[in-house]
Amino acid sequence: MSEHVQARTVSPTALKKEQVAALEAALSKKLGKAVRVLPETDASLIGGLHISVDGLVMDSTVKRRIAEPEGPALRVTEVGTVVQAGDGIVRVAGLPGAMSGELLELAGGLQAIALNLDSDSIGAVLMGPDAEVREGGAVRGTGRVAEVPVGDALLGRVVDALGRPIDEKGPIAHTATRKIERVAPGVVERREIDTPLQTGIKAVDVLVPIGRGQRELIIGDRQTGKTALCVDTIINQKNKDVLCVYVAIGQKASTVARVVKTLEEHGAMDYTTVVAATASDPPSLQYIAPYAGCAIAEEWMEEGRNVLIVYDDLSKHAVAYRALSLLLRRPPGREAYPGDVFYLHSRLLERAACMSHARGGGSLTALPVIETLEGDISAYISTNVISITDGQIYLETELFNDGIRPAINPGFSVSRVGGAAQIKAMKKIAGPLRIELAQYRELAAFVQFGSDLSKDTLERLRQGERIVEILKQPQFRPMPVEQQVLILYVLTNRLLSDVPVDRVRKFQGDFLEYVEDNESDILDEIRASQVIPQALEEKIRGALEAFKERHAVD
Ligand code: ATP
Ligand code: MG
Repeated sequence: MSEHVQARTVSPTALKKEQVAALEAALSKKLGKAVRVLPETDASLIGGLHISVDGLVMDSTVKRRIAEPEGPALRVTEVGTVVQAGDGIVRVAGLPGAMSGELLELAGGLQAIALNLDSDSIGAVLMGPDAEVREGGAVRGTGRVAEVPVGDALLGRVVDALGRPIDEKGPIAHTATRKIERVAPGVVERREIDTPLQTGIKAVDVLVPIGRGQRELIIGDRQTGKTALCVDTIINQKNKDVLCVYVAIGQKASTVARVVKTLEEHGAMDYTTVVAATASDPPSLQYIAPYAGCAIAEEWMEEGRNVLIVYDDLSKHAVAYRALSLLLRRPPGREAYPGDVFYLHSRLLERAACMSHARGGGSLTALPVIETLEGDISAYISTNVISITDGQIYLETELFNDGIRPAINPGFSVSRVGGAAQIKAMKKIAGPLRIELAQYRELAAFVQFGSDLSKDTLERLRQGERIVEILKQPQFRPMPVEQQVLILYVLTNRLLSDVPVDRVRKFQGDFLEYVEDNESDILDEIRASQVIPQALEEKIRGALEAFKERHAVD
């Protein structure tokens, strides 16, 4: 008996015997093997024919052409079958024309992304629960890669990794979508970073300044204030013409809800989109979440706007990708991560850019977060990301527990491009401040052993203690840059030496309030000129004198 394949045909009226014979002959010739036709009827097709044979569907029915007026007269689609399913992974036979990253559709509308294209099958990751997936079920290629809705309709919204709303504020009235993966802008499309992205956090803005379009890594152990630093930066973008995207990857849903609530309370959701793939979401969604968030941000950047994106955090992202890769049976490498894990983050972070004026002049600043284990920044994923970014802010548990918050270790923190974008007055202060702080840290470690200290050493210690105090800052209290410049000017000119260390922070608050109430032109002038000319210096000293006198009287 010869091998033959079966073709299922559906037509609105029953096919005649000759028609069946002609179809069998034509299909056998086309496929190069004997075909037996099993005809069925379905009046709702109105006209035309629907044929399924050997992993192909040929559809010329009137019903489909009404539903799809722009489509071709005959649509040929490939159909594969699920040969294995489990752990969020499906292996699909057939679909020889599938692309890498193509969105596949399973029964019930469940989606999957094709990641492994092997010679005889496809390994795909499911974008939803796998309970409904049956072996032998049909899989259709869509010819598209994953896309998310983009545009201003997303502001103020919380969405999942596929851009579907999860905030109970109803559907998103978007007008455009965008592929989640894209090749990063090339060299000629970019321009040098020249505008600061103010975080409102003194320690960052003075010591590790960030420019618009920069990638600055936030790295530290658990519970060292990484998220707090990013959230404060988002809050500080209010009225600054910067849109924000916060991508939460692998975090607890309750933690994400708290961040959203905080942003809402500070009026920051008006210009922010939150993309959340929580710890309970399948690793596939955690894997695509940062690319989806990036696509949302990129759309605004290409409109010439300034955007800030936070990836919180990429350690969990790498772990989700490792889980997927192991399930797809890719060979594990160092720390069991697959060989292409570097590319996982480089292709994401390269999409941060400061665009040339010819390309609209927008910018996309990225703050990726990495969680370290016991301060080990030389682990695999952290060294990778350090090499991709333009600097890092290193947060330390020891400092955090000593009450130095934000717990930034200035010795290990660096910003390789942001200095160019710092405003002039700040740049002038930053140099001496950095040196004095470094000297203080060295001395402080040293004097624990000695007692006989020279006057100069005592002086440096006094100054160092005050710098540390001034750089402390509570959460949710971003400070405008002109206030930062003012207080740091006073500090670096050693005008706080007579204030007891434990009163320095209170002094700072009261003094800034005094200037705001009585000499606000000083702040206006710094804001406008971005420098401190001689005349203004005198004015500042005068204001300080007057305040100190009044303070002493009080
Ligand atoms: P995780 O590793 O769990 O993600 P994290 O490094 O993101 O932690 P946060 O959640 O931002 O850390 O902060 C940890 C705790 O420290 C929080 O309770 C937060 O309120 C507090 N905290 C962070 N920054 C400051 C600050 N500048 N001043 C006072 N408290 C702070
Ligand atoms: Mg966190």
